[in-house]
Amino acid sequence: MGTKEACGVVGAYSAKGTDIVPMLLKGLEALQHRGQESWGIAVEGKPVFKKMGLAFNWYNYASELAGYRGSSGIGHVRYSTKGRSNLDNAQPVQIGKEFSIGHNGTIVNAEDVARAVEADYRGKCGTDTKAAGYRLLQFLREENDWFWAFERLAKELIGAYSFVVLNRRGEVFAVRDPRGYRPLCVGWIEKSKTYIAASESCALTAIGAKFLRDVEPGEMIRLGGPKRAFESFRFAPRQASAHCSFEYTYFAHPSSRIDGVSVYEARKRFGKTLAKKHRMKGNVVIPVPDSARPAALGYALESGVPMEEGLMKDRYRRKGSMRSFIEPRQSGREEVVKRIIPIQETIRGKNVIVIDDSIVRGTSSKIIVDSLRKEGARGVKMAVTFPPIMHPCYMGVDFPSREELIAHQVAKGSTNIAEIGKKVGRAIGVDEFQYNDIEGLSQAIGLPKNSLCFACINGDYTKLGISPTVKSRKEMKG
Ligand code: SF4
Repeated sequence: MGTKEACGVVGAYSAKGTDIVPMLLKGLEALQHRGQESWGIAVEGKPVFKKMGLAFNWYNYASELAGYRGSSGIGHVRYSTKGRSNLDNAQPVQIGKEFSIGHNGTIVNAEDVARAVEADYRGKCGTDTKAAGYRLLQFLREENDWFWAFERLAKELIGAYSFVVLNRRGEVFAVRDPRGYRPLCVGWIEKSKTYIAASESCALTAIGAKFLRDVEPGEMIRLGGPKRAFESFRFAPRQASAHCSFEYTYFAHPSSRIDGVSVYEARKRFGKTLAKKHRMKGNVVIPVPDSARPAALGYALESGVPMEEGLMKDRYRRKGSMRSFIEPRQSGREEVVKRIIPIQETIRGKNVIVIDDSIVRGTSSKIIVDSLRKEGARGVKMAVTFPPIMHPCYMGVDFPSREELIAHQVAKGSTNIAEIGKKVGRAIGVDEFQYNDIEGLSQAIGLPKNSLCFACINGDYTKLGISPTVKSRKEMKG
């Protein structure tokens, strides 16, 4: 199996017949933080349009895109959690002549699903999205009923999926897996009578749509159906959710609201929680840009230590505005981190408290700590809003192998957060290091613990329904 997809998705249907392509493109630009590798759109009657790179580059293809018009369509930005980053793996994916599909998440049992369609679609299921798509196509050929087909598909799929689908009748489907791992919401534009589905509400804001609501876990919404423009269908029974806690910490845009929670406010609360639990002595609080900014503010407000900008992204240089964690290669991640420039005036001679959202491999943190010391910091301490990442994620975020996770490396079987924190701190070269814990994380998000996923922290994959085999990075990435 080649790739598994994380990413951002968008779908639109205008009941007034307004061209939705500009809305898709705006939506993709707003979801860029969810995927920087490739982007694509699908509209009725045209081949899927896909390109490598950032979505705002659509300006460079304006003449090719001129023929792309329609009152319904879908779009996708990609970040690979498995397999190679290339155009063949970009999305949306065309499935037969019947539909195109965009996927945010990971199907854990994609190989089993691919085997089920092998006889009919040999060699076509190189990614989990394609496997799920061709299985859906098989069900549709059995019974031409989309609700029934999704119900059947959901019984087989294990994993995380927020799908957008465009069929050849121009109907758009927004589908969220029964646990609600990855976000998905819908909005409305009165003027053009357009429904928008998107991974995050920040895309609705960018398009000028009013937020209507989150798509519920186990819910499928059809836009532009024969009877009504908006229909909801429950394809899986209600069960405990497993919203990804890492979305609130790092992945999502701070301006988004996910499952009723403002990401910005949650991040600010992460900082306050950290300051309450682990008050560190220092002269200045500085965030690692960009996702840790609200948490640093929260830490500063709670602790009384002033917050300053001590690290700035050099946005005007290549890769300067990109996110390091979702870069597919180590060299790319380091290049992004090296574009973070320390501000001497904030740092020199000070005891600096650095706030970061998470530590995955530890390489970026080490580069940052070294640069702060080089610029004259008297002391460097660090507090991290996400607890130690000890296990891989099989639900759409790229922590593919334990061997790369710094917390797993140093823990050597221990689950004591303070002990792990000390060792991680030593490894990245800080004077003091503190982690948040699961309790603090869920309290700050404001959702009950049993409605969130913490599998990468505690290794509990019960809600996924299987115990995934721990694989090496080589096996995962191919
Ligand atoms: S394992 Fe971690 S990153 Fe993956 S869905 Fe769960 S909380 Fe999110």
